[in-house]
Amino acid sequence: MSIAPPKSVLPKSVDARKLVQREQFLDGILPLESLERLSEAVESVDGEIATEIQFGRDLQNHLTVSGKVSCAVDLLCQRCLHPVREQLEAQFCWGIVWSEEQGRALPKDLDPVIQDGDELDLHLILEDEILLNLPMVAYHDEECVSKESFHVGEEETEAGEQQENPFKVLEQLKGSSGKS
Ligand SMILES: [Zn+2]
Repeated sequence: MSIAPPKSVLPKSVDARKLVQREQFLDGILPLESLERLSEAVESVDGEIATEIQFGRDLQNHLTVSGKVSCAVDLLCQRCLHPVREQLEAQFCWGIVWSEEQGRALPKDLDPVIQDGDELDLHLILEDEILLNLPMVAYHDEECVSKESFHVGEEETEAGEQQENPFKVLEQLKGSSGKS
């Protein structure tokens, strides 16, 4: 029995050809530091961004990378302007190519990803997958009210209580004076 070691950081740059030869499986954490576009798109990322990817070939001998990336992010609710948590899981199946022309020749079930020479920037293309799966707008599932109407409601309640209290006091005075 042993405790699972902490997950390692996914390598940023790999050569897909080499990893396909080894039918490599990689799992690891995407470091937020290298995901500037994601950091700008969300309020915050909560916890780790976990990835699992498998390199291989399909039946037609295309180089493929399939897997998933998952994370939890806070977005701004467009109704009440408070953060709302969204759980994201993006699944993908890439076909690795070296030109747009090669990409167009891929079967429909493979998303073309262009490797630059010997280097495939895993962090960049995994970030793309997360960004593609971000909802355009976010709302709380449960009822929440817009910031404006929420404040009006608070003031009404406070004013109501202030008006109510003097009457209660009067009633109590009347009641006690009536008894005596
Ligand atoms: Zn809300």
